[in-house]
Amino acid sequence: MKHLILPLLLATSTCQASLCESGHRQSPINITAESVAAKKLPAMTVDYRSAPLKLANDGHTLRVRFDKSGQLVIGKERYTLQQFHFHTPGGDQIKGEKFPFAAHILHKSASGQLLAIVVPFRLGAENPLLTRLLPQIPAKVDGDHKHPDQQVSAQDLLPTHLAYYRYSGSLTAAPCTEGVEWLVMKQPLELSAAQLTQWQQHFKDNMRGVNPLYGRAVFESQ
Ligand SMILES: [Zn+2]
Repeated sequence: MKHLILPLLLATSTCQASLCESGHRQSPINITAESVAAKKLPAMTVDYRSAPLKLANDGHTLRVRFDKSGQLVIGKERYTLQQFHFHTPGGDQIKGEKFPFAAHILHKSASGQLLAIVVPFRLGAENPLLTRLLPQIPAKVDGDHKHPDQQVSAQDLLPTHLAYYRYSGSLTAAPCTEGVEWLVMKQPLELSAAQLTQWQQHFKDNMRGVNPLYGRAVFESQ
């Protein structure tokens, strides 16, 4: 029996770690000039609506959830807004630029395809949405805190110009499932150093380093 059980256990633990460690379509990445393919993508159309604020501290990040409060359309693809949350450091790099902070806006299509928008942040001016949200980070790790008296829109996390890079990647934490579509906004937003410090009083760094492209192409919108 001993001879049978040990290899089985080893095989199981290798499987669990395999995608994060040896997957070839992992996120985040560094978008270099050489990796961007010539094919141009259609513009995105965003219809995010205001909704009553629902936020949670999940132990890793601040998450704001939406219920049928927004759509994202790219060409013939249509996605429903699910939630947004934040990361330090920012994860995806643009031409080697590292960002101290990023927002991820998550969407799902009717067929279950996941699509995440990355909004990178540089240090600079105070971000008005973070000014509202940071003081409301729940002290406890628990479920959604509902604030029906406050409206929030994911629109407040988008830059003025909606030009983006697109690549096929993965969840950025275990199990690192692949097949997630990533749109990285070309125009970063800003948060102040004080806001970043305020964030770091609640959350440890929650983003892994960049991963090799392994031949993946990155596309860009017009
Ligand atoms: Zn994320």
